[in-house]
Parts: sequence; C-alpha cells; structure tokens
Amino acid sequence: MTRRLAWAFVTLLALVAAACAKTAYTNRSQLLLISEGQEVALGLQSAQEVLKKEKESGDDLQVERVKRVGQRIAVAANKPDYKWEFRLIEKDTVNAFCLPGGKVFVYTGILDLTTSNDELAAVMGHEIAHALLRHGGERVSMALMAQMGGQAASLALGSSVSPAASQVFNQVYGVGAQVGVMLPHSRSQESEADEVGMILAAKAGYEPSGALSLWRKMDAYAKSKGQNAPGWLSTHPTTEDRIAAIKSKMGAIRAKYYQRQALR
Ligand SMILES: [Zn+2]
Repeated sequence: MTRRLAWAFVTLLALVAAACAKTAYTNRSQLLLISEGQEVALGLQSAQEVLKKEKESGDDLQVERVKRVGQRIAVAANKPDYKWEFRLIEKDTVNAFCLPGGKVFVYTGILDLTTSNDELAAVMGHEIAHALLRHGGERVSMALMAQMGGQAASLALGSSVSPAASQVFNQVYGVGAQVGVMLPHSRSQESEADEVGMILAAKAGYEPSGALSLWRKMDAYAKSKGQNAPGWLSTHPTTEDRIAAIKSKMGAIRAKYYQRQALR
C-alpha cells in the first residue's frame, strides 16, 4: 500500500466512524453518509412530487381516521423536529410510506384491507418506524458507498445535499415516473420496522396484535396475487419467519408499552 493510499484509507475510516449512528430502540450501529437535515430536505421535496402526481381522497371520514391514528403514533414517536402530515391517496394499490421529515401517505387500497384501527396503526407504525430509524438514509449511504467507494464518505462532511445523494435518494424512494414504488428494504430493516412499529402503535394505545393480523392478511393477499403482488407487498417479504418473529416479540411489547385505551 502506498503512503497516499494508506492516508486515504485512514481518512475513510475516520469519516465512516464519524458517520456511524445508533438506531432508536434497537440500538444498532448504522452507517449514515447524509445528515438527518439533508434527509428531511429530500423527504419534503419528494412529498411535493407525490402530491403533484397522486389524487387525495375526498372521503372525509377515512381522511380523518388516517390523520387521527397517524397523529397518535406521531406523538408516540416523539420526533418534534418532524413536520407530521398524514394523507390518504385515492388509489387501489396496496401501498403506504413515510418520507423522512414526517410526510405519511396511505393509499385507499391498503386502507380497505385493514379491518380495525389496530391494523391501520400497524401499517403506519411500521412505515413511521422506517423513517424514525433512518432506514432510507442508511440505504442511500450504502448505495453511495457501492457507487462511489471512498469518495462517498466525503459527503458525510458536506452541509448541503450533493447531487449524487439526491439522485440515489430518488431511486431509493421511487420518486420518478412512478411515485411511491420504493426499492425493497433489507430483511433486517424490515424486522426492525416491525418491532419498533409495534412499540409505537402500543405506546399510542393500539393493541400490538394488530401487526399479527395485518401481516397474516398481507401474506394471504400476496399469495393470492402470486408474482404480481403490487406496491407495498413487493417491497415487503411476508413470510412465516416474519409472522413468527412478530408473535415472539408481541407479549413483551404489550407488557412494556401498551395501555388499553378506549380509542375511536
Ligand atoms: Zn417495511
């Protein structure tokens, strides 16, 4: 190794160390090459794109329901720097997502599959958990590392959003011709979002078993659609393992976080 290369390597290690953070609740180390502020700025920009392309539901009752359940989970998430907003999109696709910064979109296609607010809370808790745990930023960082190698690490020091980061963010969040079609999360991010999503729903007063009935339903729905599982389902592997993991964590989460409330 030449001296120059060695220096580059040491610098890279230092930057990577500086860019390492810990996730809320699960305390996992993660590599983040973009700051939370950059992530939020990109999230807000993407939310504008989504609103330009999608049609909001005119069903006042359901719009209010999504806002009410979402707001309760937002309070549980305790993220005051996020500007929470909950929108119901009129589209028969099984989809929901939360952009960094707190813009949450639920599609009527997924809402129609939920038969209780506990199940709706499981959908929103899961999506809000992805944002809270900065899974998007982590995926952008990994993609940047893969594309740019050592150079990517220097992005961690910049205060403005680099064009490369912005481009990768749009790929990860599916902001383009087809909005809301994201790249799938990793398996570990999925199980983390399941766990933290259940915690948030329970803290908000929703029965955490809503996650169990939701994923059983999703599993059956995905199987009925075969390879053509749309939107949300194509990015969320629903397996026996996942349902077993939810089951195994549910009791402890309920005991620690859930307080039965008479919620509308
Ligand atoms: Zn997910």
